[in-house]
Amino acid sequence: MIQINEHFAELPQSYLFTEIARRVKKYQEKHPAADIIKMGIGDVTLPLPKVCIEAMHKAVDEMAYKETFRGYGPEQGYAFLQEKIRDFDFKPLGVNIETDEIFVSDGAKSDTGNIVDILGIDNKIAVTDPVYPVYVDTNVMSGRGGKLLENGCWSNIVYLPTNSENGFVPELPKEEVSVIYLCFPNNPTGTALTREQLKPWVDYALQHKALILFDAAYEAFITEKDVPHSIYEIPGAEEVAIEFRSYSKTAGFTGTRCSYTVVPKSCKAYGKNGEVYYLNGFWKRRQCTKFNGTPYIIQRAAEAIYSAEGQQQVADIINYYHENAGIIRAGLSQKGFEVFGGVNSPYIWFKTGEKDSWKFFDYLLEEKNIVTTPGVGFGPSGQGYIRMTAFNTNERTLEAIERI
Ligand SMILES: *Cc1c(COP(=O)(O)O)cnc(C)c1O
Repeated sequence: MIQINEHFAELPQSYLFTEIARRVKKYQEKHPAADIIKMGIGDVTLPLPKVCIEAMHKAVDEMAYKETFRGYGPEQGYAFLQEKIRDFDFKPLGVNIETDEIFVSDGAKSDTGNIVDILGIDNKIAVTDPVYPVYVDTNVMSGRGGKLLENGCWSNIVYLPTNSENGFVPELPKEEVSVIYLCFPNNPTGTALTREQLKPWVDYALQHKALILFDAAYEAFITEKDVPHSIYEIPGAEEVAIEFRSYSKTAGFTGTRCSYTVVPKSCKAYGKNGEVYYLNGFWKRRQCTKFNGTPYIIQRAAEAIYSAEGQQQVADIINYYHENAGIIRAGLSQKGFEVFGGVNSPYIWFKTGEKDSWKFFDYLLEEKNIVTTPGVGFGPSGQGYIRMTAFNTNERTLEAIERI
């Protein structure tokens, strides 16, 4: 008899975005004329930079001729892209990453999810709360969750509250953990850690022989000088951290799909008897076995953003979203809301006041015709918060803030 992976059955139905869609639909059916503004959008809306389109057209043409056609590429990515990543994303930070430590792939979601393949089943996992659900769900799927508790948390996972009480700087875990997911600038809170605030995490990992999985998907939105663009800016991090980057939010690649993961060759994990293993070789093995590389055409598109023109076009896109974030921040603050994020991030996170997240979500939907994301959907510490995103147009963002 075929046995299912029952851990999948333990996962509750993904509730947040279906519940939002249900409430919006119900409201729309009752009020078909309502002009609803979507400020919950987690997807970018501006088109790809021109340089990417040109690079893809050129690459498509190459595929048409025997002389320039490309079949299977290197699983870890083409050297032309790895070299650009090394020289543009890390060298200017004073970080020496070699090309064989860079693994190009088709998404930070896939990579943050797949990384659990190479980690032992008995690892104790810690996540910040609120949290990007992928980290939790992929660990539950592979059997590291334990029991689902009433508050939506898992008994085997350590949740680290990240809220206004601790200034959105989570405290180090009180119990021993071996894997820590950190996402900074953070989705959903939009807040970031300074170098000084990130350093204790690296020190913890070094001291406890733990691993940090650092999701830097929003790195391109960083504006403040004391916020690190890479965890490898912190001394010792190359021994204890894997970093995930993505072109999705950086350059509008959410539908085009390209990202990369850095696994330094000095990054270690241990066997049951303390034997030292190097994660770089394990991840390479995993990728070469289960993944056949990001399409050539797509990698050429990603390469194009490193040209002078490309850098300018990406900066223009990021500036556009930053402008929206500024509008939201200023508008909500003026109204007296306690507002966080939006400076190093396209996400604005604010306190609802007395109401709980869902009640305030309903209020904004029904009274202001604005769709947001209730903070509690990302974890219990998100209760009493709402997330708004900067991904709508300037015009609609202004209109939404005027309504509030
Ligand atoms: C959007 C996002 C990503 C990017 O995922 P892709 O699969 O590269 O599109 C990664 N992590 C977080 C927290 C995100 O919000």
